[in-house]
Amino acid sequence: MALWREFEDASAVHSFREFARTHVQPVAAEIDRDDLYPTDVVQRAAENGFNALIVPEQYGGAGCSFRRVVSFFEEVGAASASVGISLNSNFQAQNVILRVGAESLRQRYLPQFAQGLKASYALTERNHGSDIRTLDTRAVRDAESWELNGQKSFITSGTGADLFIILAQTDEGLGVFAVPRDTPGVSTFASDRSETFGLRNGPHVELLLQGARIPHDHLIGEVGQGLKVVVRNLNYSRTLNAAMSIGLARMAFEESLAYVRQRKAFDQFVYDFQGIQWYFAESLAQIDAARLLLYEAADAIDEQRDVERHSSEAKLMCCTVANNVTAKAIQVCGAYGTMVNSPFNRYWRDAKTFEIGGGSMEVLKNTVGRYLGRLNLDQLAASPVA
Ligand SMILES: Cc1cc2nc3c(=O)[nH]c(=O)nc-3n(C[C@H](O)[C@H](O)[C@H](O)COP(=O)(O)OP(=O)(O)OC[C@H]3O[C@@H](n4cnc5c(N)ncnc54)[C@H](O)[C@@H]3O)c2cc1C
Repeated sequence: MALWREFEDASAVHSFREFARTHVQPVAAEIDRDDLYPTDVVQRAAENGFNALIVPEQYGGAGCSFRRVVSFFEEVGAASASVGISLNSNFQAQNVILRVGAESLRQRYLPQFAQGLKASYALTERNHGSDIRTLDTRAVRDAESWELNGQKSFITSGTGADLFIILAQTDEGLGVFAVPRDTPGVSTFASDRSETFGLRNGPHVELLLQGARIPHDHLIGEVGQGLKVVVRNLNYSRTLNAAMSIGLARMAFEESLAYVRQRKAFDQFVYDFQGIQWYFAESLAQIDAARLLLYEAADAIDEQRDVERHSSEAKLMCCTVANNVTAKAIQVCGAYGTMVNSPFNRYWRDAKTFEIGGGSMEVLKNTVGRYLGRLNLDQLAASPVA
C-alpha cells in the first residue's frame, strides 16, 4: 500500500508524478543553486499539456478541475518548488484572464499558454507589500490606449516572463492590466533585493514601466475593482502554494525516513530509537491532516463556497506543517541533514519562504479572522440535528 493517499484520479496523479520525477527532479538542485528560471522545464510542461491545466479546451487547455490542478502542483512541489512557482505565475495569469478578462484578451493569450507562454504576477512595490490598497504605479487612459508608469518589485518569474499581469493605480481606483514584455517602455532588472534564499527561480526582479502603452482591452476586469480581482485570484494561487508546501514536506519526510532506516548509531538503525520514531509519527499525522485541508480547499474552489476561508486555512496549515517537517528532517539526519549538497536545506529554505510569498501567515490569519467576524451569532452554532 502506498504511503500517501491519492486524492485525484490515479492515472492523472501518476502522469504528474512521472513528469515531476523525469523532468523536474533531475534539475531541481541546479535551478536552486544557480537561481535559474526553468525555461526548458516550463516548455516541457507545456508539451505535456501541464501549462494550461485550468484553461478550457475551447482555448487550447486541458479544462481540468481545480482539484486536479492542486494534485499536479503537489507532485511538482515535491520535486522542485522553484519550478512549481514558475508554473504558478503562469497559472495566475491564465486564471485572471479567464475569469475576468475581455473575450478578445482570452482569445489572444489563453491558447498561447498551451504553447509555453510564461507570465508574472506583479502587485508588490518597494513601498507596498502586504498593503496594496493604493499604489505608486499609475495607469492613465487616453483615446488610443492605457499608459503605465512605475516600478514593481519582487517579481517571481520576471526573468522569463513574456507577459506581466500588473496592478496599478488609476484615477478611479486600482486596475489590473496585461502587459506583454515586448511593449516599448517595459524592462526588468535584478536589484539588491532580488535574490532570495528560498524559492529561487531566477532573481525576483524589479519591473520598470516607462510610458508603456497597451490596448484598452488589456485592462482585466473593471477599473476600480483591481484589488478585488487580484485578491480573488490569490485565493487560487495560494492554494497551489499550499500544495507545493505539502509536496516538499512529503519529499523531506520520505527521504529522511529512508536515511534513518539505513543509518546506524549505537549498534542499531537510527529509526529504531523511539524518540526518532515519534518525530516521524508526528510528521506523518501533520502531513495527512494538512492534505485533507488542502483538498477541502480545492473542492471549495471547484464548488465556489467560502473560498477565501478555505484557501487561507490550507496555506496556513500546509506551510506550518512544511516548516515543521523539513526542520525535523534535518534534525534526524544529523550532520548529513545540514550539508549544502544534501537536499534538506533546500526543502527547509523553500518551506520558510512560502510563509511569506503569496500571502504571509499574518495576512492569512487576518483573512480567516475577518471571515469569523462577519458571521452572524446564529451562524456560530452547529447545525441542528434533523
Ligand atoms: C519568494 C517571494 C516571491 C514573491 N513573488 C512576488 C510576485 O511574484 N509578485 C508580487 O507582486 N509580489 C511578490 N512577492 C512579494 C510578496 O507578495 C510580499 O513580500 C508580501 O506581500 C509581504 O510584503 P512585504 O514583504 O513588503 O512585507 P511587509 O508588508 O513589510 O510586512 C512585514 C511583516 O509584517 C506583517 N504584516 C503586514 N501587515 C500586517 C497586518 N495587517 N497584520 C499583521 N501582520 C502584518 C507581514 O506578514 C510581515 O510578516 C514575493 C515575495 C517572496 C518572498
